[in-house]
Amino acid sequence: METLQKLTRRQLEALQVIAARETPPRGVSLKLIAASLKLAPPSALGHLTLLEEFRLIVRYRGKTRLTDKGRLTLDEYRRHHRVAETLFGHLGLPPAETCAAAREIDLAISHRTVGEICRAQQHPSSCPHGEPIGPCRSPNART
Ligand SMILES: [Zn+2]
Ligand SMILES: [Zn+2]
Repeated sequence: METLQKLTRRQLEALQVIAARETPPRGVSLKLIAASLKLAPPSALGHLTLLEEFRLIVRYRGKTRLTDKGRLTLDEYRRHHRVAETLFGHLGLPPAETCAAAREIDLAISHRTVGEICRAQQHPSSCPHGEPIGPCRSPNART
């Protein structure tokens, strides 16, 4: 299973909070992560423990930072999300509704399936909201 497929929505959100709040080399406190996720610190800590097991973050003296793998995983997530949004857009959903629809599948689908969806749509360069979609790495990619 790919890393994204192992993550819950909450764990992904924790990763996004850390990415948004970390100021290298400083890292983010548990208190801030918990507050951003509207969780009690022990619940937030449970998510961090798992993210650490997946080597997506490192924790040192109470501060949390993303690893290179964590950053790469967030890049992959953005690609999954935006390709899925584009698919729902092509299926006729108004742009405002594509984001919520994409969230229903973006963690579950494999990189390979994302590549296939990307190819079927002639490798869109942006999502319905104008956010960039990076180059496709699908084996059949032509761009
Ligand atoms: Zn979205
Ligand atoms: Zn979007």
